[in-house]
Amino acid sequence: MENQNGASSAYAYPLLIKNILLAPVAYRADEEIVYRGSLRLTYADFRERVARLAAALIDRGVRRGDTVAVMDWDSHRYLECYFAIPMIGAVLHTINPRLPAEQLIYTIEHAEDRLILVHRDFLPLVQSIKGRIDSVKEYVLINDGEKDRPQVPGVEFSGEYEELLAKAAPLPEFPDFDENLRATTFYTTGTTGLPKAVYFSHRQLVLHTVTATASLSSINSGPNFRDEDVYMPLTPMFHVHAWGIPFIATFLGVKQVYPGKYVPPALNALLRDEKVTFSHCVPTILGMLLKDPSAAGMEYSGWKVIIGGAALPKALASAALDRGIDIFAGYGMSETCPVLSFVRLRKEDLKLGREGQVAKRVRTGTPMGLVQLRVVDSKGKDVSRDDRSSGEIVVRTPWLTQGYYKDAKNSEKLWEGGWLHTQDVAAVDESGSVRITDRLKDVIKVGGEWLSSLEIEDIVASHPLVAESAVIGVKDEKWGEIPLACVVVKEGAELTPHKIMEHVKGYVDRGVLPREAILLRVAFEDSIAKTSVGKTDKLALRKKHGGE
Ligand code: AMP
Repeated sequence: MENQNGASSAYAYPLLIKNILLAPVAYRADEEIVYRGSLRLTYADFRERVARLAAALIDRGVRRGDTVAVMDWDSHRYLECYFAIPMIGAVLHTINPRLPAEQLIYTIEHAEDRLILVHRDFLPLVQSIKGRIDSVKEYVLINDGEKDRPQVPGVEFSGEYEELLAKAAPLPEFPDFDENLRATTFYTTGTTGLPKAVYFSHRQLVLHTVTATASLSSINSGPNFRDEDVYMPLTPMFHVHAWGIPFIATFLGVKQVYPGKYVPPALNALLRDEKVTFSHCVPTILGMLLKDPSAAGMEYSGWKVIIGGAALPKALASAALDRGIDIFAGYGMSETCPVLSFVRLRKEDLKLGREGQVAKRVRTGTPMGLVQLRVVDSKGKDVSRDDRSSGEIVVRTPWLTQGYYKDAKNSEKLWEGGWLHTQDVAAVDESGSVRITDRLKDVIKVGGEWLSSLEIEDIVASHPLVAESAVIGVKDEKWGEIPLACVVVKEGAELTPHKIMEHVKGYVDRGVLPREAILLRVAFEDSIAKTSVGKTDKLALRKKHGGE
């Protein structure tokens, strides 16, 4: 930096994850962090446990630059790992335990995990991969308060989580180091081929936290996140740091509730008993919660929910509003830490009728602070703001993965031309609000015209007898590709392809859907395939119906 005669002893404050903890511990020390409704910690207790975990890991030989992996349900322990592991300069690898064994082994080896903290429920996974991984030196058991001590033949645990914490003297101080040090890593499996590792530095996570906090807490009307809120994640903590929201909740010093394994009746009970006001999830999780018998008679008003990870279907938004849920969409991806944009409602939006409100709430929203988001055509030119012209979303922010770890070829592709390519197709309206219409891979090309699978999906899902649906492109001799709606019918209901077609045709006649949509075919399914993070698996659907 240019010499401006600053004091020789001035402190060049690094943006480190440890500093997220300063304010809440100083002025919200008594606020609670709750696990499954049974265990309650204060922020002061939490800070002490982070210091104990850090000391325990150092005792186990973990050093700066080592990778420490976690396999746990959503818990206060996971939150402790979010802080303690990066705070000693190690890298937190949040393992996706739903990966098939071969991919799991690949990710653990590729990340060079040195130590794995593993919940007892995931021991069968450890059993299936043991002896096939060289990098892992130790496993620490998370026994979750159970009395019996499970065994995995051939695997020696170097300790149990609570016992290690109890034995360790809290680390008195956390070191300063370069804010660009890698803090977290995890794998994305969205496409074919091997999982790809994204990674984020302390600086990136702090900037993501501070910007998202400012952006969310500054909203006046509609959904906002403030210090009176009670937070509970419904996105697994292994997936993109639960969208980074646990860092934001901690920074705000709000009451936090961690539900353990997602079991709908238990989740509904926690929402009610702990008076949760702020959550986030993929559409399928909210759908599952609302459908569960435990949702009958539940009072959801006052609960704000960000839906992301996939488009928010209009039918779900409407059902949620009926139940009093303040629902709105947010957007991001593994490569982007993840938050890029979310819906901000204005006072006048809240006066709109149901249909108008739903249309606003399901959009992809406007970029939050520091996000440079463009929608560009194939020549890299910004598309017109007419809400119809579409192109790919490309972005720049301070918190984007700088590449895929140890994968130069895909890194270059991701960052072609100095912009991160999201592969998401979108349109922009005149106010700058973005609306995703597809993934590049999911776009249906009918006679050379791009048809949005999401727009048709929304219409099919709005049929009162449809429980679930997904629209994909399938090969067609005449048109190249035509849309196919995979439909799950509501229990006990009877529906024919013709009835769905009539429903869709009504929207084509009214000019809501383009003409090509009348080429839609319908396939009835028992269920719709989901990915390991609970999203519709269009790749699997295309394979099933003769594509790819
Ligand atoms: P992942 O990397 O698994 O978090 O998936 C990120 C992808 O989810 C994005 O690239 C989008 O395709 C999709 N996605 C996330 N949020 C939205 C949204 N609000 N609307 C439509 N698609 C979304």
